[in-house]
Amino acid sequence: MTVAEGIDRVRERIDAARSRYGHADDVTLELAAKTRTPETCREAARALAERGLPVVLGHNRVQEALSTAPAIREVPAASIHLIGPLQKNKINHALNCVDLVETVASRELVEELDIRASRNCMKLQVFLQVNTSGEASKHGCSPEDVPSLVEAVELSPSLRLEGFMTVGLRSDDEAAVRRSYMRLRELRDDAAERLAVAESDLQLSMGMSQDLEWAIAEGATVVRVGTAIFGPRPAIG
Ligand SMILES: *Cc1c(COP(=O)(O)O)cnc(C)c1O
Repeated sequence: MTVAEGIDRVRERIDAARSRYGHADDVTLELAAKTRTPETCREAARALAERGLPVVLGHNRVQEALSTAPAIREVPAASIHLIGPLQKNKINHALNCVDLVETVASRELVEELDIRASRNCMKLQVFLQVNTSGEASKHGCSPEDVPSLVEAVELSPSLRLEGFMTVGLRSDDEAAVRRSYMRLRELRDDAAERLAVAESDLQLSMGMSQDLEWAIAEGATVVRVGTAIFGPRPAIG
């Protein structure tokens, strides 16, 4: 299967889920590109552009984002998201190659990003990452911390809150997985109400290869898909 065929198949899954669950708005397919080469990333970005789809690629590591960014940016209007945790000492590198950080989960990171973005005279887009499954291994703030983090981002002149992100519960139990996605939607709806903006102004980045239908059922506006498009990841090490 080529990357382009993978994109077509996943788009079919997205559209089938949208009609099944009555999801009127389109869902952005973000390609989770960890471990893929610059050439593969560029091929994937071109395939999205050829189909008239938004060109959004997500990287887990700043180093991978840096090394693939020149190839990805050959495609007009490409957008690169960081979907893995951001260490403080990598912030400047991240700001050089990333358009949006999906993994903001602490007040400290909000403050540090605001300072560095302001030095670069840029407005950085961010998602707040929430641990909605309660699994200890997962990155993200706790649901209780969301209101204060939303406020912290709102008070940061160089950051713009674009939405929320979660990595769902890893399980075959549909009800349990959907509960974690529903939780993110509720947090988004609360935030929209407090900020007096439309819910649709705040994205919901949730759902991966194995469960994107369940995420769409709960209102995902962005799904992050890797293996269903690129095939299995090479073993690390
Ligand atoms: C790898 C990854 C994905 C995509 O996972 P697949 O199962 O390969 O689709 C999505 N989100 C994050 C944060 C990831 O690290």
